[in-house]
Amino acid sequence: MSRPVYHRVLLKLSGEALMGNQGFGIDPEMIRYVAEEIRSVVDLGVQIAIVVGGGNIFRGIAASSFGMDRTSADHMGMLATVINSLALQDALERKGITTRVQSAIAMHQVAEPFIVRRAIRHLEKGRAVIFAAGTGNPYFTTDTAAALRAQEIHADILMKATKVDGIYDADPKLHPDASFIAEIGYMEVLEKQLKVMDMTAISLAMDNRLPLAVFNLSTAGNIRKIVCGERAGTRIVAR
Ligand code: UDP
Repeated sequence: MSRPVYHRVLLKLSGEALMGNQGFGIDPEMIRYVAEEIRSVVDLGVQIAIVVGGGNIFRGIAASSFGMDRTSADHMGMLATVINSLALQDALERKGITTRVQSAIAMHQVAEPFIVRRAIRHLEKGRAVIFAAGTGNPYFTTDTAAALRAQEIHADILMKATKVDGIYDADPKLHPDASFIAEIGYMEVLEKQLKVMDMTAISLAMDNRLPLAVFNLSTAGNIRKIVCGERAGTRIVAR
């Protein structure tokens, strides 16, 4: 059986990843699937932390484009990530994975506050940790929160789940002959403005040489493959 090459990982799930084919909210089938994928690496003894987005419920920038104050809108977006985090915690615990939610916005009745040392202690004890409420600051995204938390907990890799297989040299929907890129440098992603991940998140990862993997969540087994060093998705690394 494959053995993990990464022992502490941070998984970034967008809110849309929990939405499935619905237009809004959380699809119970999809969240069960995600929990099962996560369980496959917990079973290998891998320590896993998760940052969940909120785009399936509310996006600050979209609301601010209709005239809402951006800071208030972003607070709403961050609260949306807490809703998703609690749903994911429930799904993981149904699969037998002890899980803690830590929120960057204090809400003691529903989640622990974010305390990095405590998060690491949970991971060491085999608990999954979900980081909710992004960075706690407006004008950021949960991609950036993921890059930040990955470094704070000393994760070996940041895995960004997407709807596509990884990075291509052109949009495969428009150019059927586009070729798949298995590995690419941070700088190239920034220079070409490849929209795989928020630019702030890529810069933060680059400064600290945090390896990134971009992969298709809907291909079952991808999370486990990446954790075991097998080919899946695109790696973004220092070159
Ligand atoms: N958000 C924020 N600060 C953060 C992270 C998120 O203000 O550190 C807000 C922002 O409004 C964003 C929303 O939360 O639109 C949901 O996060 P994101 O868009 O990153 O979710 P995803 O696209 O991953 O579902």
